[in-house]
Amino acid sequence: MQTNSKIETDVFYDIGYGLYIATCYDGKKHNGFILNTVCQVTSNPELFAVTVNKQNYSFEIIKQTGIMNINCLDIKTPFSVFKKFGFESGRDTDKFADYEHFYSQNGLIYTKKYTNSFLSLKSERYIDFDTHGMFICSVTEAKKLANNENVTYAYYQKNIKPKSTLKSGGYVCKICGYVYKGNSLPEDFICPICKHGANDFEKIE
Ligand code: FE
Repeated sequence: MQTNSKIETDVFYDIGYGLYIATCYDGKKHNGFILNTVCQVTSNPELFAVTVNKQNYSFEIIKQTGIMNINCLDIKTPFSVFKKFGFESGRDTDKFADYEHFYSQNGLIYTKKYTNSFLSLKSERYIDFDTHGMFICSVTEAKKLANNENVTYAYYQKNIKPKSTLKSGGYVCKICGYVYKGNSLPEDFICPICKHGANDFEKIE
């Protein structure tokens, strides 16, 4: 947490974010990854903004194919699902090899387990940022699958992410819960699980 600043970044967690498995297809393999940056921007026409980190293997796929599915997860989703789709790269693994899946009209995968609904999106406009790309998308299909409570990022932080058992002398990753043991965290440290940097770690007091 930044303490010597007017910007307390913990405040960002008070903005409501859902958590989703986004899926796409590179022509050979289906991939899925965890997203929390989906937001409806207009209702007529129905447009959604989806922002994707360029480090993400799926970024280039979505940029090229222009389509993706957004699977809306519920609060029963276990950490193992976030680990599989959030912290592992689809570059070298087939994440859906052992994960139940179905296909929507656009040919992409959607999930049913822990999933309340899915949206099929088509990119209409692209906005470039240094680290991320934003896709402004129309909706080609939207289906309700279950009526459970949707998981939010705040809920994940509080209830799903593993709790650190270390009492002191370490740093915990605010994103995935990984614990770095040691009294000082190197500035260029990268979380081995979720790949976030030292800025996303906080000292265990
Ligand atoms: Fe992490």
